Amino acid sequence: MSQDAPQRLYLMQVGLMPEYQIPIVCYLVQTGDGKNILIDTGLPEIIPEEASDFENGQDVIEQLAGLGLTPDDIDTVISTHYDIDHAGRHAAFTKAQYIVQRVHHADAASNPRFAANRPQWDQPIERIRLVDGDTELLPGLELIETSGHVPGHQSVLVRLPKAGTILLPIDAVPFGEGFTRDQQDDGSNPDAEATRTSTIKLLDLVEREQIGLVIFGHDNEQWKTLKTAPEFYE
Ligand SMILES: [Zn+2]
Repeated sequence: MSQDAPQRLYLMQVGLMPEYQIPIVCYLVQTGDGKNILIDTGLPEIIPEEASDFENGQDVIEQLAGLGLTPDDIDTVISTHYDIDHAGRHAAFTKAQYIVQRVHHADAASNPRFAANRPQWDQPIERIRLVDGDTELLPGLELIETSGHVPGHQSVLVRLPKAGTILLPIDAVPFGEGFTRDQQDDGSNPDAEATRTSTIKLLDLVEREQIGLVIFGHDNEQWKTLKTAPEFYE
């Protein structure tokens, strides 16, 4: 296995939608050569009124501190999309490069959905790496373009030495019950056809790669069964 490949995956719950006990989460990948790669940053420190159905827990900064890390230790932030529960603390990572799909970054500039959170994601362009479609970031760390929930949403595939391949669909598949070929749209996504296409793309990927663990984006029932930080998958 290559030196820069992922060695550990940490799962961190940083908040909650109390009404449905839905976890708000982000992830940390550590590589063999000591790089810290954060996947999403969770909720903002102060939750705006229009997002009052969210509640902060132990935020990403505290979670990282629990692992002996400060925001400056984060080399890369993989940004799956700019919703407030996924990109709420982006601005805290002043040393990191952000990685986002070009289509998503371009859409966000004029999409009112992402306006309130703009101070977090609208970072100097020289610190943002825009990618186009499926992209291998490192050996064992891949971005999978999964539009539908929003244009240019991305999911993440992590290959670990012992745990094997883990898929993080993020909001392409928030709940395990939706991970089927005949899933009917629940009306919550702006592009139902793209959502369906992305779900099938991920199902095909799971079959092809013999993926043993798919960690759904907001699935409380599953979350309770997973190892969370300071424990990790390796
Ligand atoms: Zn979400």
